[in-house]
Amino acid sequence: QIPVITIDGPSGAGKGTVSKKIADKLGWHFLDSGAIYRVLALATVHHDIDPSDEESVAPLASCLDVHFKSSADGSTMVILEGEDVSKEIRNEKVGAVASKVAALPTVREALLRRQRAFKESPGLVADGRDMGTIVFPNADVKVFLNASAQERAKRRYLQLKDHDPSVKIEQLLADIQARDERDSNRSVAPLLPASDALEIDSTSMTIEQVVDQVFSYMQE
Ligand code: C5P
Repeated sequence: QIPVITIDGPSGAGKGTVSKKIADKLGWHFLDSGAIYRVLALATVHHDIDPSDEESVAPLASCLDVHFKSSADGSTMVILEGEDVSKEIRNEKVGAVASKVAALPTVREALLRRQRAFKESPGLVADGRDMGTIVFPNADVKVFLNASAQERAKRRYLQLKDHDPSVKIEQLLADIQARDERDSNRSVAPLLPASDALEIDSTSMTIEQVVDQVFSYMQE
């Protein structure tokens, strides 16, 4: 039985960094499921498809030509239709479109198998919104990582301000709240902790403290 750790929560709670650190420490695989939704979002833009048109987006999700490649510096390269889109998928606009395609039930269904295929020996750390509830319901350890919207906007601001001096924290907060709203109120896989998840509020915690808390929980 291949072990799985799931780390779910809203955007900006620190899931990505925490999951990657845990995967690296254990030498396990890492699934960034949000990246798959983001790549699909970008594909709808490239193919000029309306992201809320389920009949057009679902076939695109089934045959999405995406690959993840580890680069020498330890980061993961995301390749869509042969093109490196690692940077492009991270922008706020792509995130907003991702949360639209993610609200379509047949799209989520079409991406299930692709996500489950990441479960390979010696183990997997899966980061997302529904990893512990839907994609890996039998995961060995489930974590739900949260933080206040203000704190998440502040973290995002600090990440972005050097690349884009025009970025405004108020706008980031509004974007985060809109995305939370969409992710929580959709009819499929709404953002909710699994009933057996350890809930951690990272608002006043460092990444290292969160990682330590997950490891001590695993040893219980
Ligand atoms: O985590 P990230 O911000 O990269 O995810 C982008 C969007 O993809 C989220 O706002 C959410 O709507 C969607 N998503 C999802 N289920 C996942 C991962 C991401 O619905 N497991």
